[in-house]
Amino acid sequence: MYHQDTIAAIATSSKDGSISVIRISGDRSVNITDGIFFDRQGHPCPLSGCSSHTIHYGFLGPDGYNILDEVLVLVMRAPRSYTAEDVVEIQCHGGYMICQKIIELLIERGVRIAEPGEFTKRAFLNGRIDLTQAESVMDLIQAGSDIALKNSLSQLRGSVKNKIVELRAMILEDIAYLEAALDDPEHISLEDFIPRIRKHSVFLKEELEHLLQNSQNGRLIREGIRIVIIGKPNVGKSSFLNCLLGSERAIVTDIPGTTRDTLEEEIRIGSTLFRFIDTAGIRKTEDIIENVGIRKAKEELEQADFVICMIDSGSELEPEDLYVLEQAKEYPGVILYNKVDLPSVTEKEMIPVSDNKRIISFSAATGEGLEELERYISELFIENRIHYNDEIYITNARQKESLADARESVQRLWKTIEAGMPEDLYTIDLVNAYESLGKIIGETIEDDIADKIFKDFCMGK
Ligand code: GDP
Repeated sequence: MYHQDTIAAIATSSKDGSISVIRISGDRSVNITDGIFFDRQGHPCPLSGCSSHTIHYGFLGPDGYNILDEVLVLVMRAPRSYTAEDVVEIQCHGGYMICQKIIELLIERGVRIAEPGEFTKRAFLNGRIDLTQAESVMDLIQAGSDIALKNSLSQLRGSVKNKIVELRAMILEDIAYLEAALDDPEHISLEDFIPRIRKHSVFLKEELEHLLQNSQNGRLIREGIRIVIIGKPNVGKSSFLNCLLGSERAIVTDIPGTTRDTLEEEIRIGSTLFRFIDTAGIRKTEDIIENVGIRKAKEELEQADFVICMIDSGSELEPEDLYVLEQAKEYPGVILYNKVDLPSVTEKEMIPVSDNKRIISFSAATGEGLEELERYISELFIENRIHYNDEIYITNARQKESLADARESVQRLWKTIEAGMPEDLYTIDLVNAYESLGKIIGETIEDDIADKIFKDFCMGK
């Protein structure tokens, strides 16, 4: 067990709420709370002998006469707590001053203020969770959609960890066998080993490849699907966003070219998070300010998962519209044939549609076509791509990087085998793959990297 100071922090949000929770963790947490916890008559209320996972009602203060607050105290004994140490959680009234006073009282009695993420770091250092589970705590807090929530919960419950542990066990077995066979060729046959390692290397390669491919979807889950909206000025891009939002947050205007910068909106539809980016109208222009907007729009296009090209059905199809469609040609998406509530001037059939796009009749004014659009995007990105049976979606860039390193080692191993190189060369790649995978779960991680990971956490976590 990893022993250190007893630490404390306000675990709830800093905004006023009806209750706040102060979390204390470490060897002395019960003992310290004991000294400041009293019953209604002002008599000390001993906690030291109490069992784990019990709740105690009383009053908190420097002594039985100077009470700060009426509280509930939760006691969770090591190792059955968040940090795997003795943990006390004080539920007090929600005011900032009360919490501050209680924290001061705890500090006077030898507690240290916890650093951001220190509770979770202790859970990791004490071996209760691995690094992927620690990182999923952060994702869980920041989850912006049901899918993101589900994914981070599955990681918190060990889905990534279990997979990595399973792959590492296989590699370790191969390393051990190989070492033994090289040491004692008389009794342990290398001949048997070759087909086995060949099979394993293919299996590992496929598994890592699959995890990496899925991590593309992991980004969609965590950050949302990036949808860029393009179209010449006045086709209804801002109105479309407003229609989606059901509010007037995007600026709607009749003057062409006034949406000069890009506008980004995070929108949750059903269980999915979308990131809609409304660009300045892409069009050929001499105006310097507009040119900057157009360059930005092109940059956004390059990072898009999906493109929405807007065409105004109520006006003539212009060279600018064709320019927009041309710019978006390579990207998957839809053409929204907007303003169908107005008499059409441009017929739908006149619009060139590339193979990777579908055309949808739409009206930002009446909402017509919105359902079809949502269904299409959801099918494309969620229903056909994200399945929650046994699939693992790695969302974390650090984990992805180590996964790619492991894949590289396995690929090298496979090449070495196929090239008929001596068996002792296998060990290097096997060990490298083993270590790279170890980094994901925090088995072979340097202190400074762990520090960096936990610093991103909020206070009290
Ligand atoms: P943007 O420049 O592409 O962002 O276009 P806006 O969203 O500012 O829309 C330009 C004008 O078209 C505004 O007057 C909108 O009210 C109008 N407009 C947008 N969509 C529709 C629609 O579906 N039907 C009708 N009748 N008008 C629309």
